[in-house]
Amino acid sequence: MNDICVATHQASIKELLDDAEFAGLANRAGFLVELRLDFFADLSIESFDLALNRFAPRAVVTFRHPAEGGRRPGVSDAERLSYLQRAADRGVEYIDIEARTALGAFNKRAAKLILSHHDFHRAPSLAELRELWQRIAAQPAADVVKIAVMPATVLDTAPVLQLLTELHGNSGGPRPLLLCMEEAGLWSRVLAGRFGAPLTYARGAGAPGTAPGQLTWRALSDTYRYHDIRSDWPVYGVLGNPVGHSLSPLMHNTALRTLGLPGVYLPFKVDGDPAEFLRSFGALLSGCSVTIPHKETVMAACAEVDAGAAAIGAVNTLNRTPAGWSGSNTDAPAAADCLEDALGSLSGKRVLVIGAGGAARAVVCGVQARGADAFVLNRTRERAEALGRETGATVVDAAALPGLSFDAVVNTTPLGMHPKIAATPLEESQFPKCGLIFDTVYNPRRTRLLKLAEARGCRTIEGVSMFIAQGVRQFELWTGRTAPRDAMTQVVLAALG
Ligand code: NAP
Repeated sequence: MNDICVATHQASIKELLDDAEFAGLANRAGFLVELRLDFFADLSIESFDLALNRFAPRAVVTFRHPAEGGRRPGVSDAERLSYLQRAADRGVEYIDIEARTALGAFNKRAAKLILSHHDFHRAPSLAELRELWQRIAAQPAADVVKIAVMPATVLDTAPVLQLLTELHGNSGGPRPLLLCMEEAGLWSRVLAGRFGAPLTYARGAGAPGTAPGQLTWRALSDTYRYHDIRSDWPVYGVLGNPVGHSLSPLMHNTALRTLGLPGVYLPFKVDGDPAEFLRSFGALLSGCSVTIPHKETVMAACAEVDAGAAAIGAVNTLNRTPAGWSGSNTDAPAAADCLEDALGSLSGKRVLVIGAGGAARAVVCGVQARGADAFVLNRTRERAEALGRETGATVVDAAALPGLSFDAVVNTTPLGMHPKIAATPLEESQFPKCGLIFDTVYNPRRTRLLKLAEARGCRTIEGVSMFIAQGVRQFELWTGRTAPRDAMTQVVLAALG
């Protein structure tokens, strides 16, 4: 089983021993506790022994060198090594020592030795990484080589992926533990075991973490199924920016777990050109969701784009095929599904779409494909007219709304979205005659628009229904299995509160 190593963050050993979360992790199957000796203000042989009594043997013990983030300058290597020797003598499973430290008479005994290198300033090139790996791995005492680097963007992490891929399957020699910090490096923490690392690092529930970008141990174990990930598991992901608050990882990982399917789904914060990201990470990925701002630009990276996505001019789903990436758009049929659930057949129904951006285009095309008549209203009239010209939708004026009648009104602007929850695309006086209001905004679930609609006796559809419906279609495209819609709905609604 791959272990999750939870880093201690407490300022003293007393605090650590009083911490209920860490008491629960002590010697728990699948978990290690990292004792960061340089953190503890009350460190002494006596207090250290108390910590070892609690956490040995399932511990990683380190006394970080000040040049690599250690918090105790002025402690000699000899003193650091004497504590680490005590840990080895007491039978802990792992000792972590910076590769820069001369080991002298240190005897690891039965412990596995992690020789580590931390760079909190930058991510090295592939040539530098290879050289670093070879230099550290050549030390006979090394059981694990840990290299932790600081990327500025996800593209900076590509050399780490390349080196992991090169090392993958190597038998003999130390095991690689190559980690990229920050949000850009999240994939390297979740996939560490998939590439042969014996452990990955996590933080406690309320802790800031000992390195930027650490996930909580619960997220790693429950959402990402870290303990189960195998080297042949397919990897899926969402490409976007920002992507930190996306509910897609929670929804898709829950779906995979519910069906007992191998596979893990990760967020990738992609700053630049998604095509460039896919050139580096494409071989790792079996399928991707694509979100703002990449839905249009990602089309250039597709070997084929299906007719629906081509008509919309946006791709939100990538599926790997022998020819390359196949692009499709599940937003459009998802929106139409939501309206059909409420209205029955959309044929001949009048649907007003507010907005003229990517989501509006998807809804217009989605309902037209089911035979509805689409109408468009937008703040910038020229954009509404352009959408009307391209799709055949009729442009309407805000002033004319109260005299018009529709079967459904769909908001595709971000108005009403957290944190500006008082905003609404329609004030009370502007409502047309309409029995159904659908807001694609889903945070919060009950937007001001939906509350106003309810007060008028209209039926409503929450944006979360569309979010789940587009995810269900993505999941089915990638796995060929019927998606566990109830489990996906439950976890998303719980997360939205
Ligand atoms: P987009 O391409 O940027 O388009 C935004 C549209 O909203 C434009 O038409 C813009 O009008 C209008 N708008 C923005 N701010 C406005 C304001 N203050 N007043 C009036 N109109 C305003 O964005 P998008 O990709 O279409 O996404 C829009 C929203 O759709 C997202 O924020 C999200 O909430 C929702 N969405 C939901 C789902 C789902 O699964 N539920 C899926 C996709 C999108 P102008 O043309 O005048 O700038």
